[in-house]
Amino acid sequence: MTNAALQNHVQDLLGCRRCPKMQSTPISGGAVMSDVVLVGQAPGVHEPRLGRPFAWTAGKTLFQWFEEACGFNEEHFRSHIYMAAVCRCFPGKHPKGSGDRVPDETEIANCAPWLTAEITLLHPKLVILVGKLAIHQFLPKAKLADVIGHRIPHHREGVSFDIIALPHPSGASAWRWTEPGKTLLRRALTHLSKDPSLKIIAAKARKSTMDKKQIV
Ligand code: SF4
Repeated sequence: MTNAALQNHVQDLLGCRRCPKMQSTPISGGAVMSDVVLVGQAPGVHEPRLGRPFAWTAGKTLFQWFEEACGFNEEHFRSHIYMAAVCRCFPGKHPKGSGDRVPDETEIANCAPWLTAEITLLHPKLVILVGKLAIHQFLPKAKLADVIGHRIPHHREGVSFDIIALPHPSGASAWRWTEPGKTLLRRALTHLSKDPSLKIIAAKARKSTMDKKQIV
C-alpha cells in the first residue's frame, strides 16, 4: 500500500455527502501511514471549525491518557496514528437535551465503508476503539466492562489485529469515574503502554525530542 492510495482515500472521504442530516462536512486526521488506527464516535461541534478530530476537551483527556501510558504528546500522536471514526461528520446537537446527537443506523451504515477501506489499506496491527459506539462496530452488543481493560485479538476484512478499547473521554460519560470503570481504564492504559506498535511510535518521539535538543 502506498501513501498515495491513502491520500486518495482521504480526498474521497472529504468529498463525501451521503448523510443529509449531518451538520458538517467530513473531518479527517489526514493520510497518516500507521500500524495503529484509532476509531472515535463522531466529531463534536468544535471539530469542524478546528479541522481535526478530537480537537476539544475530550481530545485533551484522550491525549493525556496516551502521554501518560506511552510517553508521547498530541502532536506526535496526530502525526503517527491514523484517526478514524464511526461517523466522520458532526451529527448536530441532541434535539432533547445536552450533548451531541448519536448518529442513526443509516448514517453509521453509510460511513462504515470508509473504515472498512482504511482497515484494508493500512493492515493495522492495533485498533484502538474509543467509546461504546466504536466498540459496537467491532464487538456488537459487548458491554464496556467486558471489553475495556482487555487486549482482544480480532479479524476483519482479512486482516488480523488486536483491539484495545477505551471509554469515551468526554466529560459527559460517567462510566470512567466509577468502579469498575476506573480500574478497567487503568488496565486499558497499561495495555497501551505495553503495545509493540505504540512502543515504536514512542521511540520515534524520544528520538525526535533528542534531535531537536541537539539542533538548539
Ligand atoms: S457521516 Fe460518513 S457517510 Fe455520512 S456524509 Fe459524513 S463522511 Fe459521508
